[in-house]
Amino acid sequence: MTRLPGKVASQGVASGTLRRDAVAARSAGRPADSVAGAVIEAAWQLRALQAAATSLGSDILEFQLALLEDDGLVLEMVQKGAAHGDAARAIAEVLEEQIASYRAAADARFAARAADLEDLKSRLLGALKGAAAPARALPAGTILIAEEMTPSRFLELDRAKIAGIVDQKGSETSHVALLARAEGVPMLVAAGPVAAEWESRPALLDAAHGELVLDPDAALIRDRAGQASAQDVPSSEGEGPAVLSDGETVRVNLTVNALASLDEAPPEWFDGIGLVRTELLITDAEEVLNAGRQASLYRPLFDWAREKPVTIRLLDGGGDKQVPGYAPPPGGGGFLGVRGARLLMRRGDVLRAQLAAILDAAEGRPVRIMAPMITLPEEMRFFRTELDRAIDASGADRVQAALGMMVETPAAALDIDRFDADFFALGTNDLAQYVLAASRDSEALPLGGEIPPAVLELVRRVVEHGRNKGLAVSVCGDVAASEESLGRFLACGVRSFSIPSRFAPRFKQYIRTGL
Ligand code: PEP
Ligand code: MG
Repeated sequence: MTRLPGKVASQGVASGTLRRDAVAARSAGRPADSVAGAVIEAAWQLRALQAAATSLGSDILEFQLALLEDDGLVLEMVQKGAAHGDAARAIAEVLEEQIASYRAAADARFAARAADLEDLKSRLLGALKGAAAPARALPAGTILIAEEMTPSRFLELDRAKIAGIVDQKGSETSHVALLARAEGVPMLVAAGPVAAEWESRPALLDAAHGELVLDPDAALIRDRAGQASAQDVPSSEGEGPAVLSDGETVRVNLTVNALASLDEAPPEWFDGIGLVRTELLITDAEEVLNAGRQASLYRPLFDWAREKPVTIRLLDGGGDKQVPGYAPPPGGGGFLGVRGARLLMRRGDVLRAQLAAILDAAEGRPVRIMAPMITLPEEMRFFRTELDRAIDASGADRVQAALGMMVETPAAALDIDRFDADFFALGTNDLAQYVLAASRDSEALPLGGEIPPAVLELVRRVVEHGRNKGLAVSVCGDVAASEESLGRFLACGVRSFSIPSRFAPRFKQYIRTGL
């Protein structure tokens, strides 16, 4: 295990996969052609971010907006731009002068504002290049490596997907550190260069002891995660059933985005596994078609859960998820194209390999198999037929496999009683994007945090259907783990959730106390 020390900017421990922040992959908008144009574009972008931010985030962005509204500063940039005939040089010169004076300040907090100015500088320079829509989509469980994370970049990211941040430069007193602490995102700063070979490798971010550990072993992950949750909400809150004040029990299941999630999740905290994003477990094209290799990915799930239910989702490829060797047909991808169930139905070879792998790994134990992105009743009929065939092929009656569906399209939620499913799992990440007509990887609408009322209305319908038919309904979108939304889900009758391990103690505490 290789270790990289850093300073703790936001306490917490997380395991996940290292990924470099792809700010460079900002998609090109129309470039601003002058200092004034860049100022207008940057202010517009910051205001949009501010509208979606918490009050702390909004206050922090206000500092940058105030600079853009400072006539003296803008005039100096405009005049230099005219004199040099080079807007980028003018912006860089004027802001670097400011940055140097902030950095020289004796007060560390004042000096840390230099990072906000750097943030503003790169946004203005980005506007000149046409960098309008920064990459926001990240796979769940990402430990993000940043050159120097900035407040506005942090606010642009889909924080539900970020397990933690490693800043190669940065300071504990920066605004971005403040934001990370407020949102409970573990963060190390001043970690120094992270080697390129670390990209896409599993890691443990220990922002309690101040280190990033590459390729951590299971014992270390469990040990550090246990210590961390003890510092926050007592980890004892993770234990035992989650019982509401009226005596009703709420099922709390584990969401698995990487096999390392199992190492940090004490089995006794959970009622089972509620969602396995298998598309994140598969790492190479050969594995997609190799049932034997896939079975070895799924076996640890059953070993972890012992007798408790294990819910495995079939590959949800396409959309924002790239699986090696399993791409949508050319031109047929995207959120509205061939993804989830639609791709599985076109790739019988992949579906059959995965069903065989799951049944093999279950070794006769009960398993719940779930189809992603179901839209039409005939899709479920197709999966039922395929599962029956796979069971026959696997040696029959030992197998107890239930077939469920993700409810993540409005069509499925509105028409729920026409679907042949043994259980339902509400995927509120996708359901929200399709209800709100706002893609989940854009900042067009703030999709994190609270569950929108229109989405809740559909949740209510599905819960009611499940209750009438005696079928289980759970919620496994990212908002399931948010306190603002949990109260609302409980109020509309949801009694089963799937969440990542680190949320469990607080989640159960909220269920027990309502606070
Ligand atoms: C969802 O859409 O809410 C969901 C759980 O699935 P994913 O986030 O993997 O698309
Ligand atoms: Mg989904």
